[in-house]
Amino acid sequence: MNRKTLDAEILSVGTELLRGHVTNTDARDLSRLLAQTGIKVRWHTVVGDEPCRLRESVEIAKGRADIIITTGGLGPTCDDLTKEVLAEAFSLPLVRNEAEAAGLYEYIRYGSAYTPNNQSQALLPAGCTVFHNDWGTAPGCAFEAQGKLVLMLPGPPKECLPMFERYGLPLLKKLAPACIVSHSLNIFGLGESAVDEMFREEMNAMQNPGMAPYAKECDCLLQLTAEAESEEAAEALLRPVLARVRERLGDYVYGEDVESLEEALLALLKESPATFATAESCTGGDIARRFTELPGASAFFLGGVVSYTNEVKAGVLGVDRALIEKYGAVSEPVARAMAERARALTGADYAISVTGLAGPDGDGVNEVGTVFVGLAAAEKSWVRELHLGAFRTRSFIRRMAGNVAFDMLRRRISGLPVME
Ligand code: ATP
Ligand code: MG
Repeated sequence: MNRKTLDAEILSVGTELLRGHVTNTDARDLSRLLAQTGIKVRWHTVVGDEPCRLRESVEIAKGRADIIITTGGLGPTCDDLTKEVLAEAFSLPLVRNEAEAAGLYEYIRYGSAYTPNNQSQALLPAGCTVFHNDWGTAPGCAFEAQGKLVLMLPGPPKECLPMFERYGLPLLKKLAPACIVSHSLNIFGLGESAVDEMFREEMNAMQNPGMAPYAKECDCLLQLTAEAESEEAAEALLRPVLARVRERLGDYVYGEDVESLEEALLALLKESPATFATAESCTGGDIARRFTELPGASAFFLGGVVSYTNEVKAGVLGVDRALIEKYGAVSEPVARAMAERARALTGADYAISVTGLAGPDGDGVNEVGTVFVGLAAAEKSWVRELHLGAFRTRSFIRRMAGNVAFDMLRRRISGLPVME
């Protein structure tokens, strides 16, 4: 096996993937995990449950990859053919693994009906390393043959990913020629192209660490990746570059290696505790949902009002009816009043509010994508007016409105200017 660069192919088996019934999340998630190693994933292949096509794909993979990782087709049904085909392609007999056979019998006896074809799952290529399935029935395995390393994993993500993390990844890390570490700076308020523009020269000149921007739906990432002989050495290469880049991006950086603005906000609130509430119109409770999905939210989020109609804006929140009539529900004064009323009603330190037009239908006054986001604090309130564009989808407008609201609160709590 060539230990200088190791190229891997992920071969996902399943007709359901080709038909579009199931998304190939296994390949995506395995690739993400493999990115921590020096192994390069060069190909994702999907093939149906047909022995001749699978055989063909295995031959192609053997011709180009050092490591072949299959997903799916390890189960007991007649369309589960991965083991048979792989064993044959590498001229290995399938032998019954007694420990797995006994284990399977026990496992299934307590669950559903045990049928003899369950025992076919205990047939494994001779000499392989068995990956016991602690999350389901079909065991996975790894073997080396003909200069290749082959890993076989079950299809269901709940089995495939933990099995790979527990058994596959340690095996591969031992083989990997280098250690790769990545960190991402999470950026909000600057687009991917603006970030690219800022760092283009530097990025072109950089080798190790390397740097690349990635667009997400409503924000973006700048990912820095270093390769070294150990994790510590890779970290040491990354730290000074991360610090320098972060400095240049300033307060557009809302976090490092976090998933979302709400996650960054929660981390911040844990350091500087404060409570907040919401008053949501066009986001329909999405801001509250997003924040309360995070464990630990209850210490900071008091509650919210989904004031979708004017009736609820006035009747429940207590926004002045005359204000709504004069300016319209989608307006700066109404956004401000919504935030101030939510704060007064709940007694929270802060309240955020959103009122806008998520489309696709307009209101005859405002363009679709017009959104007002409010933030109320004890001494002051702020409103940001957004024009996100009439071509945007409803889900984009709602998500972006939420991001702006979280960002305003993040800025306030960090002592940064709330409005850019
Ligand atoms: P089982 O014992 O459940 O039959 P298996 O290894 O035979 O496991 P498959 O029969 O190929 O796996 O797939 C079972 C289910 O797992 C599929 O219906 C699908 O929902 C899910 N699945 C399979 N492959 C993938 C994949 N690549 N990405 C995400 N989900 C997948
Ligand atoms: Mg199956």
